[in-house]
Amino acid sequence: MHIAVVIQDRCQFKKCNYECRTYCPPVRMGTDTVVITEKGYPRIIEELCEGCGICAHKCPFEAVKIIGLPEELGEDLIHQYGENGFRLYRLPRIQKDKVVGILGPNGIGKSTAIKILSGTLIPNLGDYNAQGDWDKVIEFFSGTEMASYFAKIRDGEIKAVVKPQYVDKIPMVFKGKVKDLLKKADHSGRMDEIARMLNIENTLEREVDKISGGELQSVAIAAALLKEGDVYFFDEPSSYLDIYQRLNVARVIRELSSEKIVFVVEHDLAIMDFIADVIHIMYGSEGAYGIVSNVRNTRNAINSYLQGYLRDENIRFRDWRIEFVVHPPKRKSELPVLISWDYTEKKYRDFHLEVHPGEIRIGEVVGIVGPNATGKTTFVKILAGVIKPDRGGARDEIKVSYKPQYIKSEYDGTVEELLNFTLKEKMLNNFYRAEVLHPLRLKYLYNKEVKNLSGGEMQRLAIAIALGLDADLYLLDEPSAYLDSNERMIAAKVIRRYMENLGKSAMIVDHDVYFIDIIADSIMVFGGEPGRHGIARGPFSMRDGMNLFLKNVGITFRRDGDTNRPRINKPGSFNDRDQKSRGEYYYA
Ligand code: ADP
Ligand code: ADP
Ligand code: MG
Repeated sequence: MHIAVVIQDRCQFKKCNYECRTYCPPVRMGTDTVVITEKGYPRIIEELCEGCGICAHKCPFEAVKIIGLPEELGEDLIHQYGENGFRLYRLPRIQKDKVVGILGPNGIGKSTAIKILSGTLIPNLGDYNAQGDWDKVIEFFSGTEMASYFAKIRDGEIKAVVKPQYVDKIPMVFKGKVKDLLKKADHSGRMDEIARMLNIENTLEREVDKISGGELQSVAIAAALLKEGDVYFFDEPSSYLDIYQRLNVARVIRELSSEKIVFVVEHDLAIMDFIADVIHIMYGSEGAYGIVSNVRNTRNAINSYLQGYLRDENIRFRDWRIEFVVHPPKRKSELPVLISWDYTEKKYRDFHLEVHPGEIRIGEVVGIVGPNATGKTTFVKILAGVIKPDRGGARDEIKVSYKPQYIKSEYDGTVEELLNFTLKEKMLNNFYRAEVLHPLRLKYLYNKEVKNLSGGEMQRLAIAIALGLDADLYLLDEPSAYLDSNERMIAAKVIRRYMENLGKSAMIVDHDVYFIDIIADSIMVFGGEPGRHGIARGPFSMRDGMNLFLKNVGITFRRDGDTNRPRINKPGSFNDRDQKSRGEYYYA
């Protein structure tokens, strides 16, 4: 069986000569295998297509995919968005008393699966011209637990609650105070309790459009918890949250699973490891099709994911492994100093930041960790010269390129136009093209309108632009947000290699421990009292920095025997107590 997919947001039929049609062997023999629709998109008639793939090779925009799939998969088609649209095969299973994780790259159908399981989208079972019909779905699944589940969804006997992926959109649809938003969701009168659990009591009186991304995420999670439901879906609950908040949310979601059915989509693998009991990996081809794999235990699933290979299915979905080093890297102390700072202070009305003296070396990547609202962004802006400190500051004047945490663009035009406009001749630089644009897969975005980019696409663009500007120091604030696990590992490598090869330095603020592990040579640790008093120390070696940071957080990591990846120890377990007593929180 082969499927033909036309990825509409890549297809630029106005800029090509319909190579997909012109070069198609059956078309040349007079068969209408590829026809042009009224809108101008090519339409590939699968029944007539021989699967040679020449159209896919000839398309200048890589908008066509011809993919061979195992015959039996055809019976498991759950939903298809249009004739040459994205297809979803199989679904995650409903399991009680377990947190079920869904792990997979962006564009593979995770949100689609959630829409179906939550009853918002009636799957068409591949009959894309027909309206979805629950009765057909129930018949399709007859004899399985899914049939009775969907029957209850149809009859309104099961209520689903969804924490949506993009919390940034909430202020566009809700105007008013956090308290009012939560009251609307509060079916059980537990607002104060839930607000306390998620530490947002001080946010309740604030306007929804004035709170930070992390606060917005917490509010969205609180709203989901307040709603009375039977099955709960958390689509990327960790974006913008610091590690304390991530662990806290993980605990709250785990507790919920003792009473409710719970699904979680998450790209922070340390958190996914901690939160999920079992995991469905999703794989396939981004934008073309996605397959939900069998359920696995969490450790096994994440290891398979890092190795890029599913043993049971005998499927390789990545040709390289994501690897971790067991021993802390040596700090690059022999390298010359790029920038140093004296004891630095900045005071706002309610907030006081203190930064101990430190220095960054040329070629070094410094990871910056610590809770939200302890002054990380403020310090980064002081170094960038955007904010004047009350005392201290950088001793040297250097050129800084800065990617902010929240990236919005009002730019009216395509990605390619924005890149050319901002980076000019840098766009012709071979090293930049090969080491940044190519691995971040920017060319697939070139023709998209900047305004229409998804969160992960916007992040890739923002990283590419920040690296493309000439600077001595690159400051990237939460580059992992909205990237999938795979893209995070790629971005980490891109940034590292760029600094190493060009002899530049970087400071990376991030909350994903795996990301920090892969990207950083050294660590700066922020602590104190969020929103009131921030204290920053470092950069330290990875070992010292991780110990200081994780001691504050109160968690320890052990290493997985197969992949060396760090795994959060169960609080109070033997490893946890042993490592705490030895003061080795990370490199046990
Ligand atoms: P994920 O959550 O894994 O990132 P989604 O389920 O959001 O993936 O989307 C999977 C694919 O389905 C994407 O390539 C997207 O373009 C396509 N898709 C999603 N919604 C629609 C829709 N309403 N119409 C057509 N295609 C869609
Ligand atoms: P982080 O990056 O660690 O989350 P920030 O540096 O963004 O922290 O903010 C630290 C604290 O300083 C927050 O409580 C924030 O509200 C406050 N703050 C930041 N900028 C200003 C400002 N321009 N005026 C007043 N307070 C500010
Ligand atoms: Mg999604």
